[in-house]
This record gives sequence, C-alpha cells and structure tokens, in this order.
Amino acid sequence: MSYKETIESFIYDYPILEFHYLDRKDLIFSEKVRFLCEHECEHYGHSWACPPAIGSIESCIKKCEKFSRAFLFATIAQVEDSLNFEACLKARKEHEDLTLELRDRFRQEFGEVLALSTGCMQCETCAYPNAPCRHPDKRVATVESHGILLMQTVEAMNICFNYGNDTVTYFTLLLFNA
Ligand code: SF4
Repeated sequence: MSYKETIESFIYDYPILEFHYLDRKDLIFSEKVRFLCEHECEHYGHSWACPPAIGSIESCIKKCEKFSRAFLFATIAQVEDSLNFEACLKARKEHEDLTLELRDRFRQEFGEVLALSTGCMQCETCAYPNAPCRHPDKRVATVESHGILLMQTVEAMNICFNYGNDTVTYFTLLLFNA
C-alpha cells in the first residue's frame, strides 16, 4: 500500500475540511520569519513551545529537513463573527486536539512525526520559564516558528483556501517519512 493509500484508509474518519500531500522540498523556508516572531508575536519568550525556548531557527529548519513528506490539513469553523475571540479560541482548541490525535495516528503508521500548527494550547498559563513544560509530548510549536512560509508554500502549489466571511480556518503540517 502506498503511503497515500495508508493515510486515506483512515483520514476520512476525521473532521478535516481539506488536505494536501507535500514533499519536504515543497516547503518554503525563511530564517527571517524568526525576526517576526521576536518583534511581532506576543508569545515570543513566553512559552516552551515558542522561540527562543524551541532553539535557533537553524536547528528548527534542520529538524524539519529530517522528514521527506508533509501532510497539510485544514479545519474550518463557522463563527457568527470572526472577530469573536472566544468563538475563535474554541475552534482553535478543537483544531489543536485534532492535531494531536492525527499526529498520534500518523506515528502508528510512520514512526517519528513532527507536528506544527497554531501553537500550544495545553495550559491556561505556560510554565515558561520558571518550571519545566507540563506536557512535553503534547507541546506543538507553530508552523512559522520553524521558518516555514505557509501561505507562500500553498500559493506556489496553487492551493487556495478561501471559505468566505464568518469562518475561521486553521492549518497543521505533519512531517513524516514514507
Ligand atoms: S504544555 Fe503547558 S507548559 Fe508546556 S509549552 Fe504548552 S502551555 Fe507551556
């Protein structure tokens, strides 16, 4: 069975809107993304799942380069108002729970898997930096923290994600070898 057939033997059981197969070489990296993390993201320096705790951008890119394949999936949630913070947070949490579930499913099939998504949502307040991470195996970093330009990557592959107003869409990349 090809790796795509393996994935398709279980993937339709999950509430995924859309998925795509990418090779590692399809991913567009830029070390400059780390500058944006540092200067524009409120999570920088406040989480074990974010820089600088996750290591240098070079080491993060190297981690991704260990894998030959990437599985990109998106979930969508209908929200009455896409500016409603609580509703978006709930949808994001559901996406993150699904990310962990699918990461574990991929691990059963393919061994080591690196999941990158919207960032860790395990604890109300991150233990960083005063205590160790409470759930290291459930800690998922963001796609951007690993230098991946997701929108440029999907545009280059002619993948279009546009589901209109009052919806929120979240993305995860699962990196694996097959
Ligand atoms: S699991 Fe908790 S302590 Fe660890 S990175 Fe996530 S929020 Fe922080």
